[in-house]
Amino acid sequence: MSSVQKELDRLLLKVEKPARYIGGELHSVVRDPSADTVRFAFCFPDLYEIGMSYMGLNILYHLLNKTDHTYCERCFTPARDMMAAMKQAGVPLFTLETKTPLKEMDFVGFTLQYELSYTNILAMLDLAGIPALAKDRTEDDPVIICGGPCAFNAEPVADFMDVILVGDGEELLPEVCRIRKECRRQGLDKKTFYEKIAGLQGVYIPSFYREKRSADGAFLGYERLNHNAPERILKAIVRDIDPVDFPKELIVPLIEVVHDRAVAELFRGCTRGCRFCQAGMGYRPVRERTEEKVVDSAKTQLENSGQGELSLLSLSTSDYTQFEPLVTELMAYCKQKQVSLSLPSLRMDNFSFRVLDEIQGVRKTGLTFAAEAGTQRLRNVINKNITEEHIFTALKQAFELGWTSVKLYFMMGLPTETYEDLDGIIDLSRRIMELAKAHNGGKVGRYSVSVSVSNFVPKPDTPFMWVRQNTPEEFEQKHYYLKDRLKKIKGVNFRYHGSYASMLEAVFARGGRELSAALLRAYELGAAFDAWTEGFRRDAWEQALEENGIGPDYFALNDIDPDAPMPWEIVDCGITKDFFRSEWEKAQAAATTPDCRLGCNGCGINAHTECRWGGIYAAE
Ligand code: SF4
Repeated sequence: MSSVQKELDRLLLKVEKPARYIGGELHSVVRDPSADTVRFAFCFPDLYEIGMSYMGLNILYHLLNKTDHTYCERCFTPARDMMAAMKQAGVPLFTLETKTPLKEMDFVGFTLQYELSYTNILAMLDLAGIPALAKDRTEDDPVIICGGPCAFNAEPVADFMDVILVGDGEELLPEVCRIRKECRRQGLDKKTFYEKIAGLQGVYIPSFYREKRSADGAFLGYERLNHNAPERILKAIVRDIDPVDFPKELIVPLIEVVHDRAVAELFRGCTRGCRFCQAGMGYRPVRERTEEKVVDSAKTQLENSGQGELSLLSLSTSDYTQFEPLVTELMAYCKQKQVSLSLPSLRMDNFSFRVLDEIQGVRKTGLTFAAEAGTQRLRNVINKNITEEHIFTALKQAFELGWTSVKLYFMMGLPTETYEDLDGIIDLSRRIMELAKAHNGGKVGRYSVSVSVSNFVPKPDTPFMWVRQNTPEEFEQKHYYLKDRLKKIKGVNFRYHGSYASMLEAVFARGGRELSAALLRAYELGAAFDAWTEGFRRDAWEQALEENGIGPDYFALNDIDPDAPMPWEIVDCGITKDFFRSEWEKAQAAATTPDCRLGCNGCGINAHTECRWGGIYAAE
């Protein structure tokens, strides 16, 4: 029994939800830790219940554990009660599978899913007894590595990382681990290892670059400090995702998690071109899995894990080219196995209604429309091709088929937004309720409309990356404006998000390395779990930003000159700046860009890999 295990047995009696920390789930992998393998701790910087809902963890965990060179284990951020108990008892942060302290691993790898998880990375390093800053670590410390959507601008955490992987990780991560094992066998030091991997597409070694700044602190670009480092890091692209194995045996969580279900990936990337969406642009080109693979993956997961729900993964489910035959087959299978099928991000056409009607039966859950903006003008600005005609045609059909509740999602503070656009949200909600009442003899009855509003956050590698965000005060006034008016419409509920946390998100989405000091300070002052409303420490953040000279307008509330160099430009997401610029110009004129499936719009990704609709311009 490891020393961690003995102490842990005692601690688990004192904390909430001890099952978060014990491991041993069905399909978790326990191998001999003394074998000659590279040891990788896959760390999700949030609670077990959140991290275990993330499919990417299952994918990379099983991919690495299929190799003979790497043993991958898991670790999540302990809740605050467990953190305090571990600190008091001197128990270091450990892996769930073998209770090995993170400090003894070869790699400690973080997935960067959202900016507001960054203080949890610091909490985990602190609990593990690993120095936060890369420059303070020695040959004896693990290699700290990260990847995930926020790696498109990981500059705010670059000082904490030894290696950043950008883009698809399924081929790159095992290769990096294989090279690490080879270096270890040859007795090579960390720097030599970094030099060996620096040339791989998608690998970014932050210590090989130094920021250049003007006398007044303005960012001017990067200076390369190592001749192995490329000028820019082109994201890693898995050209064909069909052969990439999806896990056949999902780890079955011990406690209820946010999404407890089998998941089959349909495709990656998106051709629709919503101008605020980083995932849709960053993961281009669209690459589909074959129908056969999707069905096989879904059935195997369900049979091996006993899950009661299957969900399909993509940014726009109805766009899958074999959508109708696939869903027809899965629906029959799920019915036979008494498994529920969930189809997120559906286009509401006749086929979708037939499917939803069949899978939801009499207990119909709410219909969701991501309208994103209240007027057609603003929907054109953001290139969201949903019209009121689509919504109302779909709703008439939905009410006739027995649906009674509708969820509408909007974004607030979008570029060019005015109060007329907010009035559009109110008007749309009112008219939907009127339609509902018309179906119910003039009464509201069981009918309801939920209006959910999130705050716009400008993200790198989107056409809106240069645009300012609304101030927290502007957001609050707009929330109040909507709340005040929507509450007068019977049957309408309104939900919105905190505005200060959204400002922080924008700061960390567009910021550079100077933010690492503020992150460290905020953590020291008690910030952690910043994505959670309860326990959010606004006071700690205000103090940390102020002490580090980062005003509230810093990177969040200012328009950025598109010609100015930006920290995230060290990474090349494959889409050209000219394309982003032309999309931004079209947005200001409220002009739309059609779906790429109707003709290539010249985003530039096909200079790096084949795009189904855009062909290939220049093979490497
Ligand atoms: S290369 Fe053309 S078709 Fe392909 S994603 Fe870019 S714009 Fe769309």
